Amino acid sequence: MKALEAVEGVVELLLLKKLSGREYFIYALLEHINGSSPSELAEKYGISSKRTLKAFFDRLVKRAGSPFLATDIIRVSAPIILAEEVWFREGTCLLCGRLIGGRDTPENHIYHSHRKIFMSKVSETVDKVVRQIKTMHPAR
Ligand SMILES: [Zn+2]
Repeated sequence: MKALEAVEGVVELLLLKKLSGREYFIYALLEHINGSSPSELAEKYGISSKRTLKAFFDRLVKRAGSPFLATDIIRVSAPIILAEEVWFREGTCLLCGRLIGGRDTPENHIYHSHRKIFMSKVSETVDKVVRQIKTMHPAR
């Protein structure tokens, strides 16, 4: 099912940001889809450049298949994802206790070292998002 793949793709990227302790990306994204300019938001949230935020949104659009679908999925999934506990604090992985630095990023660490638990968190979150979408659009 294509719609499910779109939800999975978007949820995976947003969840990685949240779990690695960079949830400000999600807040910036929510303001961006509500019309705020990327340059304003990059400054407000301390994101290195407006291109970084724009590039992240473009990756989400690619996964969702269209800007409209990406926007819808972000709106529904953001509150669910923001409610998750972070897996990183001050550069330390709370799952294994390793301090992550240098070329290794928290996102890479989660994706490669804790892939199994991460993927189960993705599918758990996708279930919640799909249930939420069904509540909003009940089948007639
Ligand atoms: Zn770890």
